[in-house]
Amino acid sequence: MWRPAEAEPSEPFQQWLDRLARPIEFATRDAGARLPLIKNLDSFVTDQVMRTLSRQSYPRAVEASLLKLRDLFGGDQGTLSPANQQRRLREAAAIVQALRTMNHRPPPGEAPTAPAGLSGGEGGPRAALWSIPIRFVKGVGPKRTALLQRIGIETVEQALWTVPWRYEDRSVITPIGRLAPGMDASICGIIVRSEARRARHRRLSILDIFVEDRTGRMQAVFFNQSFLEPILTVGVTVLLTGRIVAGARGWVDIRMDVSQYEVVGSDAEAPVHVGRIVPIYHETKGWTSRHMRVLTKGLLDAYTTGLQEILPTAMRARYRLPLIDQAIEEVHFPRPGTPMPALERGLTAAHRRLAFEELLLLQLALAARQGMLKEERKPMRFNPKTALLTTLSRRIPFTLTTAQQRVIGDILADMASPKPMNRLIQGDVGCGKTMVALHAMVLACGSGYQAALMAPTEILAEQHYRNLKGLLDTLGLSVALISGGGRANDRKTARERVASGEAKVAIGTHALIQQGVTFAKLGLVVIDEQHRFGVLQRKTLAEKGYTPDVLVLTATPIPRTLAMTVYGDLDVSVIDQLPPGRKPVRTFLYQESQRRRAYQILKDEVRSGRQAYVVYPLVEESEKIDLQAAIQGAERLRAEELSEFHVGVLHGRMKSADKDRTMEDFKSGKLQVLVSTTVVEVGVDVPNTTVILIEHAERFGLAQLHQLRGRVGRSEQQSYCLLMASRGGGAKRVNGMADTAGVPARDRLEALVRSTDGFVIAEEDLKIRGPGEFFGYRQWGLPEFRVADLIRDADLLQQARQEAFALVKNDGTLSAPAHRGLREAMIRRWGKKLELGSVS
Ligand code: ADP
Ligand code: MG
Repeated sequence: MWRPAEAEPSEPFQQWLDRLARPIEFATRDAGARLPLIKNLDSFVTDQVMRTLSRQSYPRAVEASLLKLRDLFGGDQGTLSPANQQRRLREAAAIVQALRTMNHRPPPGEAPTAPAGLSGGEGGPRAALWSIPIRFVKGVGPKRTALLQRIGIETVEQALWTVPWRYEDRSVITPIGRLAPGMDASICGIIVRSEARRARHRRLSILDIFVEDRTGRMQAVFFNQSFLEPILTVGVTVLLTGRIVAGARGWVDIRMDVSQYEVVGSDAEAPVHVGRIVPIYHETKGWTSRHMRVLTKGLLDAYTTGLQEILPTAMRARYRLPLIDQAIEEVHFPRPGTPMPALERGLTAAHRRLAFEELLLLQLALAARQGMLKEERKPMRFNPKTALLTTLSRRIPFTLTTAQQRVIGDILADMASPKPMNRLIQGDVGCGKTMVALHAMVLACGSGYQAALMAPTEILAEQHYRNLKGLLDTLGLSVALISGGGRANDRKTARERVASGEAKVAIGTHALIQQGVTFAKLGLVVIDEQHRFGVLQRKTLAEKGYTPDVLVLTATPIPRTLAMTVYGDLDVSVIDQLPPGRKPVRTFLYQESQRRRAYQILKDEVRSGRQAYVVYPLVEESEKIDLQAAIQGAERLRAEELSEFHVGVLHGRMKSADKDRTMEDFKSGKLQVLVSTTVVEVGVDVPNTTVILIEHAERFGLAQLHQLRGRVGRSEQQSYCLLMASRGGGAKRVNGMADTAGVPARDRLEALVRSTDGFVIAEEDLKIRGPGEFFGYRQWGLPEFRVADLIRDADLLQQARQEAFALVKNDGTLSAPAHRGLREAMIRRWGKKLELGSVS
C-alpha cells in the first residue's frame, strides 16, 4: 500500500560522469566565453554531486574529489573574475578526468548511505536534504561530525530543524560613549588591554579587560573565569551584554558587570552574531552556540532552496502558515522587529508552522495506522443479541448511568462490526468502568469466546475476581484467576481451565499475556488502568496467534493532548458522569502542626461506622526504608492515636495470602483502618470508606493523588481527603516521578483542593510536570518533537489531527501529487517507530 514513489533509475557511475562532464567541458572551451550560455551550471553540478554522494558510500579519494567539485561550484561563484572562472572550470574538468580513472565501488562491508526503499524521496530536482549527511557540508570535518552526531544531527535537514532554545536581542548595540551607570546594554568593541591577575590573599583569579569602540572605552572584570584568559585577548572583537556600573571615579571609568559575552570574530561573521536578534542553541562540549550559528547560516545560504514544501497550499492558507523555507530561515534568524516574547515562547508564525508540520506528520501516521487496522477483518463473530446480556442487565443491582449506557453502546457496535475493536474508555475514578467492561466480556462469552481481564497489580486482579465472580457465576460463566501467588497446583489448574476453554473469563495481571497462558478461543482482551502497562502492543498478542478485540480502561484522566498522541489511533469513549448520589470528596490540606485536626476527622468518621485509609508514599530508591515507615507508622497509629480501632497494614511485599486476608478483613469491616503504601492507588473499591489520609502528599503527582482520592466518595456518604504536606519536601522521587522543582508543593496541592474534576487536575499536572514526567512512566512511548510542544501547541495539535484524519479519509494512500511529499516525510519520520505497514 505504501509504494515508494518512482525512484530515479540509478545509472552507472561512468555514465553519470559523462553526463556531468559534458556541460563543464563545454564551458571550458573558447576561454570561458560559452559559460554564460549554460544556465545554472553551479546548481546542476552541486545537485548532481550531492545526490551521487548520498546514494552510496565511496572510497575516500572519490568522496574527496566529489566534495572538491561541489566546493568549486557551491557558494557565490558568480562574482569571480573571468580569469578565476576559467581556472575553476579547468580544475573541475581535471577532477572529472581523474574520477574516470578511480575505482568508485564502495569499500567492502560498507552499506549504501541512503537507506534502500526510501530513495523515492528524491522526487524533486535537488538532492533531498534528509539524505545529505552533515559531514558533506563545507567546514564540517570528522571532528565536528562526531560532535554534531552527539546532539542528534546527522543530516542537513536535522541541522536545519534544530531550532534555538532561546534568543537574544542584540539588535541594539549601544556605543560605549553613550553608556551610563545603571543601564543594561550590549556593546561591541575591540579588546585593547587584557590582564590576568591573581589576588594575593585569596585564591581568586581576576581577568581585567578594556574594550574600545569608536566612541569610547570601557572596563570589564571577570572573576574566577581563568578559562577566558586565552580567549579574551588583545585585538579580539567581543560582544558584551550586562549592567553598567560606575567605577572608582564615577562616570569617567565605567565598568560592565558582564552577563553574556561572545567573541565576534572576523567581520564577515559579525552580522550573524551581533546587530540582530541572535539565536541561542543548546551547547555541548566543543560545540557552542556560535558554531551552530555559523553552521546554520551557511546551511541556510546553501540549502534553503532544497527545502521541500510538503504542506498542501490550501492547508497552509487555512492556518496562515508561512512557507517552509521562510519558516526555517526566520526561526533561526528572526526578522528585525519580531517581538521577543513571541520568540521566547515559540509562538511566532515560523515556530507554529514547524510545529504544525511535525504534529501533522505524527497524526497522519496515526491516521494511516488506524486506517490499516480498520481494513482488517476479524475472525470472530460476536452475537449482540445473546441472551446473556439480557440476563446480565437483570442481575445488576443498580441502574446504569446514561454515560455508561452510551459507552456500552459504542462497545457493542464495535464488537458486532467485522472490524477489530481498539477502543479506549476514559472515565474518572468511580464512574463505573468495570460494569461497562463486564458487558463486553459477557457479549464475548455469550458468543462462544473467552475474555481476558488484565489489571495492573495482583491486588487489583484479585479484587476484580472477587467482585465479578458472583455475577459471572450466576450467568453460568466460570472464571479463572491467574495469579503469581497461591499454591503451585492451583495455579496449574487455573491455567489448564483457560487452555481447555472451560474457564470463559480469565482475570490476572499483564502476565496473562506475557507468560505462557494459552487460551482456547480468546475473543476479547480488557486492559484496566492501561498506563501501567505502557503502550499496548497488539503485536504481542498477534505474535501469540491471538487477534482479539481490545478494550482499554483508564481512570487516570489523560489530558486530551496526550490522548491524541499516545492513544492517537484508538477510538475513545468517555464516561463523563458519576453514579447518582455521589457527593464530591471534600479535600483539606494540612501541615504537620495541624495533624490533630486531620486525625479528628478520621476518628469521627470511623466512630460513626465508616472506614479509613492512611497512605504512605513508597519511594523507589529507598523502598525498604519507606516500607519501614509505613509499617512503623501503622504500629504507632495502632498503639496511640487510633488505639480504639482495628488497624491493618497492606503493602506490596506481603505474601499474597496475607494480602488477601487483610483486604478481606477490610472489606468485611473487621478492620476499620487500613494503613497502606500506594497499592490502594488504583481501583480498590470499598464503598464504606469515607476518609483517606495521605502522608507526604507533596511527594505524589497530582494525577496520582487524584487516583488515591478516588478510593473514597464511592457511596452517598460525604467523604474526606486529608492531605498531609510537610514543608520543603520537594525534590524526592516517588515511583520514578520527579517532584517539580520551582513549583511550591503547596501551590500544586491547592489544585487538588480546588477541583475534583480529574481532567482539570490532569491538565494542571501536565502543565507542571511536562508530558515526559506526567505519569512518571517512560514506557509510555511519547513521541519526541523537535519544535512542537504538546502543552504550548495544543491548538495546533487539534488542527493537525483534524487535517490528518480528513486527508487520510479522502486519500487513504496519500498518493495524490499534492500529498506525496507528506507521505514520504511521514514514512521517514514515523514509519519505523509506528510500524506502519504492520499492525502494532
Ligand atoms: P472505576 O470506573 O473507577 O473503575 P468502578 O467500576 O470500580 O469504578 O465502580 C465504582 C463503584 O460504583 C463500584 O462499587 C460499582 O459497583 C459502582 N457502580 C458502578 N456503576 C454504578 C451505577 N450506575 N450506579 C451505582 N453504582 C455504580
Ligand atoms: Mg476500576
